[in-house]
Amino acid sequence: MKLSQLEYARPGSVDEAIALLQANEGAKIISGGQSLIPVLAFRLSAPPLLVDIGKLEALRQVTITAGQTRLGARVRWCEIERHAALRAAQPLLAAMIDQVAHYQIRNRGTVGGSLAHADPAAEMPGVAVVCDAVLRIAGPAGIRDVPAAEFFVGPLQTVLADEEIILEVMLPAWPASRRWAFEEFARRQGDFALAGVAAHYDIDAAGLINNMHVGVIGADLIPRRLHDVEALLNGRRLDAGLIEQASALAAASVNPMSDLHADAQYRKALVGTLLQRVLHRSMQTQ
Ligand SMILES: Cc1cc2nc3c(=O)[nH]c(=O)nc-3n(C[C@H](O)[C@H](O)[C@H](O)COP(=O)(O)OP(=O)(O)OC[C@H]3O[C@@H](n4cnc5c(N)ncnc54)[C@H](O)[C@@H]3O)c2cc1C
Repeated sequence: MKLSQLEYARPGSVDEAIALLQANEGAKIISGGQSLIPVLAFRLSAPPLLVDIGKLEALRQVTITAGQTRLGARVRWCEIERHAALRAAQPLLAAMIDQVAHYQIRNRGTVGGSLAHADPAAEMPGVAVVCDAVLRIAGPAGIRDVPAAEFFVGPLQTVLADEEIILEVMLPAWPASRRWAFEEFARRQGDFALAGVAAHYDIDAAGLINNMHVGVIGADLIPRRLHDVEALLNGRRLDAGLIEQASALAAASVNPMSDLHADAQYRKALVGTLLQRVLHRSMQTQ
């Protein structure tokens, strides 16, 4: 199907983009277009105006400091793939983004587009949640920071208002000694995952797990952390029995949807299996 008739604007500043969104009810931002264009082509949405943020160079920055990593909303998947310093600073981000889509889509798809689109199976929203990221958002009232854990409210739904723009996502610094792993399962390389599990944690002076984070994608209405699994693992040492227990708890803790690719029971079992793999692999990373 063809897109419905619409106008197109390419503002030169964030303020101009916000003014255009305010002045044109129903207008949509376009970034990489890899989620929006299919939505428009199926006529699931018919905005009167597309506001192309491609000229906003400030949104393309990657900044790595001792305290945090900041990724501009216009940073593309292929740029994360090629950015050696970023990959070293945020290894879990790199591993998860390596699983996003195919070559052509990776050349255009962006961090901000994925966060705003809020597909529950998408990797970037999962990274943001499991890494305690904060999203910086600009709107008519100014700038606000929203923790990723509060940003996603349902499938394809966020707290973003129509006139707001995601500027960047801020990830806390990653200690070199942190242990981590990510596993997902997709029917073909590059497809959206049926489910995915990420975990990271530190080891304290006594050799026990500390600061455990377990996040899932494709396993619920939104990407989220499994706090009950984290509580089970904190203060313990990983062994086969504990991993088995955590895996059963993870499978019981998620509420996946059924669709033509997999039913909910299958996805629950998958989350349990993926967590087992993640915990085993995490013991090899440091
Ligand atoms: C065949 C196929 C396979 C794919 N597989 C995967 C996959 O495995 N994993 C995965 O994560 N993704 C996958 N994707 C989605 C892809 O990664 C998209 O690029 C991404 O989800 C959206 O990014 P975009 O820059 O293209 O956003 P766009 O399509 O331009 O926009 C998406 C939405 O975000 C809004 N938006 C964009 N930027 C901003 C901003 N800065 N502030 C506020 N709102 C904004 C738009 O208005 C729109 O509503 C796939 C897509 C396709 C077509």
